[in-house]
Amino acid sequence: MNPSISNRLQNVKHIIIVLSGKGGVGKSSISVQLAWSLYSSSPTARVAILDVDLTGPSIPRMMGVDGHAVHQSTDGWVPVFVDREKSRLGCMSVGFLLKRKEDSVVWRGPKKNAMIRQFLSDVRWGELDYLVIDTPPGTSDEHLSLLEHLAPVHERLSSVLVTTPQVVALTDMAKCLSFTRTVNLPVLGLIENMSGYVCPCCGEISNIFSTGGGEEMCKRDNLTFLGALPIDTQLVELLDASAEQATSDTSQPDKPIDSVSLYQR
Ligand code: ADP
Repeated sequence: MNPSISNRLQNVKHIIIVLSGKGGVGKSSISVQLAWSLYSSSPTARVAILDVDLTGPSIPRMMGVDGHAVHQSTDGWVPVFVDREKSRLGCMSVGFLLKRKEDSVVWRGPKKNAMIRQFLSDVRWGELDYLVIDTPPGTSDEHLSLLEHLAPVHERLSSVLVTTPQVVALTDMAKCLSFTRTVNLPVLGLIENMSGYVCPCCGEISNIFSTGGGEEMCKRDNLTFLGALPIDTQLVELLDASAEQATSDTSQPDKPIDSVSLYQR
């Protein structure tokens, strides 16, 4: 057990890990929407989103804080706050630690493991109602590291599964589900994303990637079906907009962290 991780997370009530069998099914988009929904669910809700998709970090852009810096305080790394004054919606990603956003992260397992440990042990998470964790697609080193480091708080962990309706995505989702059962990770339910396209002109629904596969899988595997989200062209525009909508917590007299190379212990 890593005492610093349990201390850091001692005031975090719920940790939700977002998983998908394949890339490109909308896992990061759903992680972001989940974080915003939980944040908006009450005027006092405190939420943070942690991006452990180390080789493809997209959370800073989707949260509108691309290019912001993580600051080092005497008490650890300060997350980037998306809601400037309230500091109720925090964000942490390797994307904040890269010198240039085009820089690629080419790391083997041990280095990824060290980075994930640092995210959990060195960030000043504080009091949170929810910590949403966006993971890479599939079930890889990052997932195993994450679960190993989170073992001390296992009773506060749960997961949400994201799939698209095509057979190929559902087959990979079945592997993901099997992973959650092997590692004893509770599943809150499954979301079927990109389930049909609603024509903005006439309202007609086209099932471009088929539909209903996620719901059928839930019935078969005794999972809760959380719902289906259609293909929404406005969502793409909003998520792709890298407009600076928020500012990091500038109230701290802290040093900005400017290079990911500093953090590998
Ligand atoms: P993943 O994290 O699974 O790799 P992303 O969340 O990065 O997938 O989504 C991949 C692309 O699909 C992004 O450009 C995103 O804006 C888009 N996308 C995700 N969900 C939807 C949706 N429901 N409708 C339209 N576009 C979507």
